[in-house]
Amino acid sequence: MANEDLYALVRTIADYPKPGIQFRDITTLLLDGRGFGLAIERMAAAVGPAPDLVAGVEARGFIFGAALAHRLGCGMVLLRKSNKLPGRVTGINYALEYGQDRLEMHSDAVTPEQRVLLVDDLIATGGTALAGVDLLRGAGAVVSGASFVIDLPDLGGAERLRRAGVAVSALLEYA
Ligand code: IMP
Repeated sequence: MANEDLYALVRTIADYPKPGIQFRDITTLLLDGRGFGLAIERMAAAVGPAPDLVAGVEARGFIFGAALAHRLGCGMVLLRKSNKLPGRVTGINYALEYGQDRLEMHSDAVTPEQRVLLVDDLIATGGTALAGVDLLRGAGAVVSGASFVIDLPDLGGAERLRRAGVAVSALLEYA
């Protein structure tokens, strides 16, 4: 199996955050310096031409996004939860299974036509990533792709992103 070494470093925690959920925990991958480095190398290899910016989704997307931006030699824009950024922000609300959440970015962070790669640790339903894509596109950016460590294909998020015209890559899949 491709990336077998990385599968071995992701821990699954049953019934977190609620009964019936199998939580894929990347903190164990982060603890392994070689594994973390390999994950970033392989995420970088799956990206085509380097983007102008990486957009990291709070919070675990910051970890992989920052390392990947450094590896690709580009800058990084933070997509944060409500009321975390100090400057003027643009935001978007999005639906969760129960309730809603919000992503914000600095209004002046992205200039029109910049090519931006969205990064997060995991894509499930795709609600979070699609909100990020809409936020970036709303600022005039071209979303050149979206890169994840983990895809849960049964939840359909990667497919939703592809239908929205975003090239998606993920290192690991848990069906
Ligand atoms: P989505 O919006 O349904 O695609 O959920 C993806 C978001 O929820 C990402 O920001 C992930 O960090 C987080 N998430 C959902 N499930 C897991 C999991 O099993 N492990 C780690 N993060 C998760």
